[in-house]
Amino acid sequence: MEKRTLGKTGWGISVIGFGGIKLSRLSHKECEILLNRAIDSGINFVDTADCYGDSEAKIGTALRTRRKEFYLSTKIDERDGSGVEKKLQRCLRRLKTDWIDLVLFHDVRGSEYDRIFDSGGLEALEKAKRQGTILEIGISIHHSLPMMRAAIESGLFSALMVSYSALDEDRLAADILPMAYENGVGLIAMKPLAGGILAERASSIKNRKLNLGESLAQICLRYVLTNPNITCAIPGMMKLYELDENLQVGKSPRELTMEEIKVLMESVGDAGKGFCRNCGYCVPCPEGVPISDIFRFESYYERYGLKEWAIEQYRLLEVKVDACSECAQCLELCPYDVSIPERLKIAHQILQ
Ligand code: SF4
Ligand code: SF4
Repeated sequence: MEKRTLGKTGWGISVIGFGGIKLSRLSHKECEILLNRAIDSGINFVDTADCYGDSEAKIGTALRTRRKEFYLSTKIDERDGSGVEKKLQRCLRRLKTDWIDLVLFHDVRGSEYDRIFDSGGLEALEKAKRQGTILEIGISIHHSLPMMRAAIESGLFSALMVSYSALDEDRLAADILPMAYENGVGLIAMKPLAGGILAERASSIKNRKLNLGESLAQICLRYVLTNPNITCAIPGMMKLYELDENLQVGKSPRELTMEEIKVLMESVGDAGKGFCRNCGYCVPCPEGVPISDIFRFESYYERYGLKEWAIEQYRLLEVKVDACSECAQCLELCPYDVSIPERLKIAHQILQ
């Protein structure tokens, strides 16, 4: 398995990491088989999050005797000091370990970035680092390029987790990714298949032009790893064949040629249109509807099986879909042609 260095941590990370978001849909036994096969096959980076259902507990149980064989990464939604401390203790308990290699602030948005600094969240993780319960601190940011830039420039984070797939905008690749690399911030690519959209639409995409001798998922992973600034990609896995396909990519690394990338881009075409990419360009909504949050909860419900978590997050929102006045302002701002008011109603039905 090819390894790359995770920024200034100096860790040699397998280019394919294990994304644990789907594990809550599997039994403990299935997780044990899948995760052990992953480690046996050379994957040495396992990522999860406090909010991924019982993913942490399943990883903890399946790999408790192999803790030194892999780098363990988890993510915390809290921003304030006491919240972070409590969640970190829960992560350690659920993961059945004395230390976590990398803890990231999860999906930081808007004013939350400042809250990490102002309300003690970062301080809590730095304290945990001094105590040895965590080794490195990272941050995951889904859409804000200025926030990514600020996080890199701060010098406070060892790793940055970003959504990056063949559907992602060039600006991320051209600007943020090299900047992170040059500043020693390790880049972890989440959603390398655009949250499953590329795999779901594989048949229609293939029918167009793509015929590169591998599955679309494999080509898309190669696309992500062709970018030398990326340390590893963490596709979510729940089936053995998915793991095996991903392993093949990591074990036979090959950069896509310019011609192949051109074919991929032409084939993918507008597959990214019509579904929310969480880019955040449509905010603020004049009625305060948190559009991208609602679509994110819906996708966690639909694609990752995190139903209870998604329903609870929606329940906690102060402004929900019923506040939408259908003014259509957001429609003009969305670059991905999402029929926002219409799609919001569907999300509401699912999440309420
Ligand atoms: S259509 Fe609804 S969601 Fe979109 S900006 Fe107007 S009020 Fe907000
Ligand atoms: S609805 Fe459109 S503009 Fe808004 S976050 Fe989603 S993709 Fe971006």
